[in-house]
Amino acid sequence: MIVSAHVATGAAGGALLRSRVGAVVLGAVLHGVGDAIPHRDIPSRRFEICSGLAALAALAWTRGLLDPATLGGAACAAPDLEHVLPFPRPGERKLFPSHRVEGWHRSGGIPAWAQLAGAGAILALVLRG
Ligand SMILES: [Zn+2]
Repeated sequence: MIVSAHVATGAAGGALLRSRVGAVVLGAVLHGVGDAIPHRDIPSRRFEICSGLAALAALAWTRGLLDPATLGGAACAAPDLEHVLPFPRPGERKLFPSHRVEGWHRSGGIPAWAQLAGAGAILALVLRG
């Protein structure tokens, strides 16, 4: 999914769990689930990074840096860092299971604008508390 949708779903999971450790674990799981849902990606790396950081900043600003929602959002988006940073690639493949296992990350289906709208709606709810 697009980065802001990962942040939003992870934040919602963390807000519901109200546990920091749980939020981080659930965030990683939700990243895998999100990648398995057929979706379109946004071809702009800059937009992906900026929108993800903006969503995380909004969470940290309103709920606090160590709030489960903020941690969950960060944990859910974090696996995509390996798309932009020089992480190790054992066997020439990426590390996170949904990026490593062929056929897990699925293209097509939910358009980027719908993910963006959904992310905005979920974030608005989480930010309101
Ligand atoms: Zn991913």
